[in-house]
Amino acid sequence: MKAYSDMTKEELAKELEELKKQYHKFQEMDLKLDMSRGKPCREQLDISMGMMDTLNSAADLTCEDGTDCRNYGVLTGIHEAKVLIGDMMENNPDNIIIYGNSSLNVMYDTVSRAMTHGILGNTPWCKLDKVKFLCPVPGYDRHFAITEYFGIEMIPVPMSPEGPDMDMVEELVSSDESIKGIWCVPKYSNPQGYSYSDETVRRFARLKPAAKDFRIFWDNAYGIHHLYDDEQDYLIEILAECKRAGNPDLVYKFASTSKITFPGSGIAALASSPNNLEDIMKQMGNQTIGHDKVNQLRHVRFFKDIHGMTEHMRKHADIIRPKFEAVLSALENNLSGLGVGEWTKPKGGYFISFDALPGCAKDIVKMAKKAGVTMTGAGATWPYGKDPEDKNIRIAPTYPTLDDLKTAAELFTLCVKIVSAEKILSEM
Ligand code: PMP
Repeated sequence: MKAYSDMTKEELAKELEELKKQYHKFQEMDLKLDMSRGKPCREQLDISMGMMDTLNSAADLTCEDGTDCRNYGVLTGIHEAKVLIGDMMENNPDNIIIYGNSSLNVMYDTVSRAMTHGILGNTPWCKLDKVKFLCPVPGYDRHFAITEYFGIEMIPVPMSPEGPDMDMVEELVSSDESIKGIWCVPKYSNPQGYSYSDETVRRFARLKPAAKDFRIFWDNAYGIHHLYDDEQDYLIEILAECKRAGNPDLVYKFASTSKITFPGSGIAALASSPNNLEDIMKQMGNQTIGHDKVNQLRHVRFFKDIHGMTEHMRKHADIIRPKFEAVLSALENNLSGLGVGEWTKPKGGYFISFDALPGCAKDIVKMAKKAGVTMTGAGATWPYGKDPEDKNIRIAPTYPTLDDLKTAAELFTLCVKIVSAEKILSEM
């Protein structure tokens, strides 16, 4: 295929006319498809239904240490859940707090507590003139929403397939005391599906922050969410690496079973150093008597151990792998060689990141919407919803059925071609 920018004005105008005819056909189909959020599809939720059978009115809800899970108590989570989630997070159960149903909630709480009460005896962030966070971009909109909500200034840091630009991170973190944190999705990142390289993780563990209360917010949301059995990304375990580097308190690490069992009804956890955990627990005692132990028990009885969870993740992969492949082949078949965009090819996680020509993302999303396909809003992957080049679009392939997804991907690529052709033509 000839790149659009290599076509003559006449050739491109003719192509555009043809593309618009195809678009009108899509409009006539009256589609209502959603590729906007990273939600598991129905079949994925169905594979966890066995969890509901693990407990019934005849079940013994006593956990291994004799605690009756039906009653109050056990602030940091039942031991067997810590063992299971510890294996999932690659952390010692002693370094883990099990929370409620959402890791995002834990992240919010962690920022909120730093604002009002400070970290390990340091000045609460709300008493400082300025608090800043580094935000690798494109990134996860709900991370950015938390820091925006608290009035924290967000500084974009470019991502590469190796992770955030570490020269920039090191320079900023070591020179500016008002930089208090960085949002990281280190494995199968949202939205690119990139996994940080060994060097990136080692450099994170060896940061020398100007602020004593600087923390890395390490959101390992997709730690075991591989698409392929034989091609899995891996990550150096950050808490162990920080300990080796003499920086044990540098990281808060988050995870949940949201995309393993039921999003919104799973279990969330935080892993960190003994100092950080003690600091958090002091506050937590004022916040709750304990989280949902019955749900923790249900998860443990369903999976039994990490091997049960690994098997379970294979079932998820079998359902969503064809969806990723369908989108990737539509992108490849319809767009390669045209010079109208680039996209990532993840081996895990929930998203594909698409970069259109600068100035095109908003129009592409709008055009897809007009034909009945909802994408994540253009700009969402940037702090404040402002993508300075207006080019990044997050594609979430998991939720629609495979047939719907194939239609949606065809329409999406068509919109990319139309908007790009119009833009190139207008500049000729
Ligand atoms: N972190 C990332 C990077 C995510 O993509 C998501 C879900 N889209 C979450 C956190 C949300 O996690 P939870 O359901 O545990 O709040």
